Amino acid sequence: MTILGKKDDCELKVYDRLFIGGEWVEPSTGNRFESPNPATGEPWAVVAESREEDIDRAVRAARKAFDNGPWQTMAASERGRILRRLGDLILKHSDRLAKLETTDNGKAIRETGGVELPAIAQWYYYFAGLAETIEGKTIPVNNDLHVHTMREPVGVCGCILPWNSPLLMAAFKLAPALAAGNTVVLKPSEHTPVTALELGHIIKEAGFPPGVVNIVPGFGTGAGKALAQHPLIDKITFTGGTETGKQIAHYAADGVKRVSLELGGKSPNIIFDDYDVEEAVTGAMAGIFVAAGQTCVAGSRLFVHDRIYDEFLDLLVKRTQQIRVGNPLDLETQMGAQTCNSQLEKIKEMVQSGIDQGACLMTGGKPPENAEIASGYFFLPTVFSGLKTEMRIAQEEIFGPVVSVFRFSGEDELIEKANDVKYGLAAGVWTRDIKRALRISRRLKAGSVWINCYRKINWAVPFGGFKMSGYGRENGREVLDLYTQTKSVWVDISEDYSDPYRS
Ligand code: NDP
Repeated sequence: MTILGKKDDCELKVYDRLFIGGEWVEPSTGNRFESPNPATGEPWAVVAESREEDIDRAVRAARKAFDNGPWQTMAASERGRILRRLGDLILKHSDRLAKLETTDNGKAIRETGGVELPAIAQWYYYFAGLAETIEGKTIPVNNDLHVHTMREPVGVCGCILPWNSPLLMAAFKLAPALAAGNTVVLKPSEHTPVTALELGHIIKEAGFPPGVVNIVPGFGTGAGKALAQHPLIDKITFTGGTETGKQIAHYAADGVKRVSLELGGKSPNIIFDDYDVEEAVTGAMAGIFVAAGQTCVAGSRLFVHDRIYDEFLDLLVKRTQQIRVGNPLDLETQMGAQTCNSQLEKIKEMVQSGIDQGACLMTGGKPPENAEIASGYFFLPTVFSGLKTEMRIAQEEIFGPVVSVFRFSGEDELIEKANDVKYGLAAGVWTRDIKRALRISRRLKAGSVWINCYRKINWAVPFGGFKMSGYGRENGREVLDLYTQTKSVWVDISEDYSDPYRS
């Protein structure tokens, strides 16, 4: 399906089909859009655009596959076998997928190839195993009744992906949805559509029945909205910004659809004075600068104990200045590009607001001056100090390589400030004092708390937000509750029968 095209002397990859009903089909309008390479700012791929008619077609294919196809009725072990095969194929193609992901998304290849792709296969393996464990209960109501429950799939799931980790986010959603017997329509972000389409080929090779997975790239306000509003969709699962999440919740409410939202964050990462400063600086940097700061769990607010604050800040600034920003496909590169120009502009605007509101810019704050990458969407890792909690950069998600450092001394004051944002996705605590670590973890309003580590995510561990970071969980056994629904079955086993109309 992938054909090389030409544009102004440069070769473009052309993905001119949508994956619907197990086939590669033309979009209804024949429209295509360009996906820029964030490292150069130049288009590198041309992608078929789904419009409302295409979404309708994809949803109907998924509906048909759910209602009439073999997927939900086949033995769960067989669903597991196909999911395991998908995991195997992802591993087999991982080098190629990592390069494509990095080219489309800008993340350093040492992150996509070294860390993400091998882990992504595990999502499919884990949920392949869990497929067979989805079971009901017998409920002892009384001697005259046998009551049991069944966990049935919810139906057709619309999965709307963000651009920061497209294949990983697809795994978060596809693996549990499919293990539970649902069918899906997947819309990748307009900024990173390529690897989702590559996944379509792998899904076909893995042997999924037609229509079980449908992949429809397009724009959020067109394709995304049409998917979230479609009457034949039973559940929407969304990862992205809080404002879009709110809109999707409205669409879902209108159709009484189930909805899971994994939204933004402004996570506190807290360093106590009993922790080794060098190790804590490394942990803090990995917590914010991975994926060039474009992670929902980014530890973007560092709270550092008064006694080590100056030493910590000096070392943080020094080490931040040593991060190698550059060509994401180069294995030496430690920080790649921002995924899209609009995100780069947002970061610049937020950084300027920090400066205007009186925060102290310690390093970074602008794109790198290296001429080789001047046309790409790069931004230097940035550290601010001297902030007030009411400043915009202390409250709003930046979603870039920008960290704000705050000073604290007492626990009560710390907790109040750490929780003083609308988000509640994640938090980190660095201390050797186990009592303190656990005490603080109880008081933090966050869906994940990492102690002496940061940004640990695993297929087996529930993940999701408090407050405006969303609702519903991904990963772990408990996500299967969100992709299934309970049916209660009542059987009268008494010898007599009761007649309420007998005189
Ligand atoms: P969005 O939340 O708008 O995009 C996420 C996904 O939703 C994309 O597939 C997008 O499509 C789609 N979408 C957009 N509008 C609609 C709609 N009305 N109905 C249905 N789907 C829609 O993210 P942005 O790109 O606008 O980023 C804005 C901010 O969101 C970032 O700066 C960051 O703060 C946050 N964000 C958080 C992420 C997370 O992991 N929690 C991931 C990405 C962003 P399309 O790309 O085509 O617009």
